[in-house]
Amino acid sequence: MSDPTRPISPRIIAITNQKGGVGKTTSAINLSAALVEQGLRVLLVDLDPQGNASTGLGVEAEDREFSTYELLLEDGDLAQVIHDTNIANLSIVPATVDLSSADIDLASNEKRSFLLHDALRQPAMDQFGWDYILIDCPPSLNLLTVNALVAAHAVLIPLQSEFFALEGLSQLMLSIREVRQSANPGLRIEGVVLTMYDKRNNLSLQVEQDARDNLGELVFETKIPRNVRVSEAPSYAQPVLQYDSTSRGAEAYRSLARELLSRHLRFAAQ
Ligand code: ADP
Ligand code: MG
Repeated sequence: MSDPTRPISPRIIAITNQKGGVGKTTSAINLSAALVEQGLRVLLVDLDPQGNASTGLGVEAEDREFSTYELLLEDGDLAQVIHDTNIANLSIVPATVDLSSADIDLASNEKRSFLLHDALRQPAMDQFGWDYILIDCPPSLNLLTVNALVAAHAVLIPLQSEFFALEGLSQLMLSIREVRQSANPGLRIEGVVLTMYDKRNNLSLQVEQDARDNLGELVFETKIPRNVRVSEAPSYAQPVLQYDSTSRGAEAYRSLARELLSRHLRFAAQ
């Protein structure tokens, strides 16, 4: 079906952190929308059986007959698994609870770690002309997340500004190292983004200081503030950029998109 060695143009970014509730899905939705605002074409792949990114972008459960599960395990027809959203140039492969069994279904497949990699590199993908493919990962380091790490060019790590935020990172870094050694030597760390940041809270300042001390330039300058508009937007099936375009949350995700793009330009120029 696919030629995994063929170079492709879209940049594939896995948004991952095995902790739940740190802002992965929120960042996947809003960074996608912010990149689209910059004139880019974006595909979001929902790799979390909870399907929050799919719901947050308005793909109803009953419309998810063809989903990430079919993309990974059934050579699903791209035209069926890729759904439009209400935002032009932003599409999504939605997730259903079926994905929760994928870990077991994948285990017996000899290409189990490469299924997403191969699916995203099939020649039929070219017709869509994506600039970015963002993958919203589940809150664990299971085989689904391994698929994302193998498929991706880079990892973006949301770090919630709370106690113990950095503790889980060493395990994630270990997984990244393992995937580099076994399957994807070029895997980069795109960056770490502080989420739910509250500048009036000493703990946020402390987590930021620790993160910058330990991770240096990997930490994005942009911080995503805790902002109620960000948390309200999904129940209106909209990114915060649409729901409240001038909110602090929307501005922060725009800033993150600009920073990401400028990093890529710098990288490309090197
Ligand atoms: P994850 O995908 O890592 O599990 P989510 O993106 O679903 O995390 O975020 C967890 C919860 O925190 C959600 O209820 C979400 O609305 C809320 N949240 C995320 N980012 C923000 C923010 N910047 N401000 C306020 N609430 C946020
Ligand atoms: Mg999530």
